[in-house]
Amino acid sequence: MPIKKTEDRVDINTRRIINGEDADVMQLSPMKHTFAWEAYLAGNANHWLPTEIPMQNDIEQWKSSTVLTEDERKAFKTVLGFFTTADSIAANNIVLASYKHITSPECRMYMLRQSYEEAIHTHAYQYIVESLGLEEGEIYNMYREVDAIYEKASFILTFNEGVFDPDFKTGTFEADQKFLENIAVFALILEGIFFYSAFAVMFGFQRQNKMVGSAEQIQYIMRDESQHLNFGINMINTIKAEQPELWTPEFQQRIIDLVKEGTRLEYTFAKEVFPKGIFGMNADGFKQYIEHIADRRLTRVGLPEQFHVANPFPWMSEAVDLNKEKNMFETRVTEYQVGGTLDW
Ligand code: FE
Repeated sequence: MPIKKTEDRVDINTRRIINGEDADVMQLSPMKHTFAWEAYLAGNANHWLPTEIPMQNDIEQWKSSTVLTEDERKAFKTVLGFFTTADSIAANNIVLASYKHITSPECRMYMLRQSYEEAIHTHAYQYIVESLGLEEGEIYNMYREVDAIYEKASFILTFNEGVFDPDFKTGTFEADQKFLENIAVFALILEGIFFYSAFAVMFGFQRQNKMVGSAEQIQYIMRDESQHLNFGINMINTIKAEQPELWTPEFQQRIIDLVKEGTRLEYTFAKEVFPKGIFGMNADGFKQYIEHIADRRLTRVGLPEQFHVANPFPWMSEAVDLNKEKNMFETRVTEYQVGGTLDW
């Protein structure tokens, strides 16, 4: 759309996450959705690259015939099989489905940062596959060959139908609900539930002092992902405030049902990856863990808990908070900040 020459200034109070004014998307400041800018700054301060993490120990452990059991190797590879596809799905959703419909420039800024982080995550899995000399064809085809990964990937991808359509436009009640459903599914279920039993397995390895390089990669990824989840939740809650008519009782029930279905699929995945349990975490523990985090996602968007269970893996919340576990972040962050301050 051509720009209209005018002296009427854009009023940021009319800025909206979706259905805002077209002219507004190039004016970053003053900002209205400051949560997005804060997320953007936090993402930059947390910048990392997979190649900075030493993988030598993992390579030796993977080659050794005495360190890992067959069950552990299978769990490691299946979890990686899920990861390799999942961040590509997330990136495609931002770039191809969501971005163009978002009319808040500060939200777009964070989505650009988030897309790059999804690329870094995809790079991290590739780096693990390459370092350990895993068979690429085997890992990268798992989403089409392993039922439990296939079910999760195809469940998520159905929510792009409609939104991926080049003629899809927000601005009607049905279309806006469809779009809000897309954000809810990607944030609450893909980023908020589907990654978490896979994260738990990787930290299970780490707690046994096995594959610690890979686990460290995953720790950085989980920190980024918890920001993605937060951002998604902030978008949902802001759209709810800007267009309260969308948040009908039927729509709320639909989101609850979808989260319950995602919880079921995640449990099926956990059972398939560790049929006999792993590192003292059994299928029941995973079920309870998945239900616990599903409830947490629901309450963040104002929906009622469905499962009412305690967290059986309390150490998972500590794993998110890297600063508590180790101090490496502070050093890395400092390096980046120094690197960024060029002395001309
Ligand atoms: Fe993500």
